[in-house]
Amino acid sequence: MRIVVDLNRCQGYAQCVPLAPQVLRLLGEEALAYDPNPDDVHRRRILRAAASCPVQAILVEAHTPDEPEPAP
Ligand code: SF4
Repeated sequence: MRIVVDLNRCQGYAQCVPLAPQVLRLLGEEALAYDPNPDDVHRRRILRAAASCPVQAILVEAHTPDEPEPAP
């Protein structure tokens, strides 16, 4: 899967970090670092982290081209 964090929007509140620590982490006081291509096993955690962000800075792509289309 793929994620993008809009670092212009991110305020470094870090609510997201404990929800998906395998993928999101803080560098220093407020700089967010992340894995843009996390393993799909983390999907649920990442969706929770994205939902927790007060400024909706975490964008999660529904699926990547090499993943099968979800069933209708
Ligand atoms: S919760 Fe949102 S604003 Fe806070 S660190 Fe995570 S992405 Fe940035």
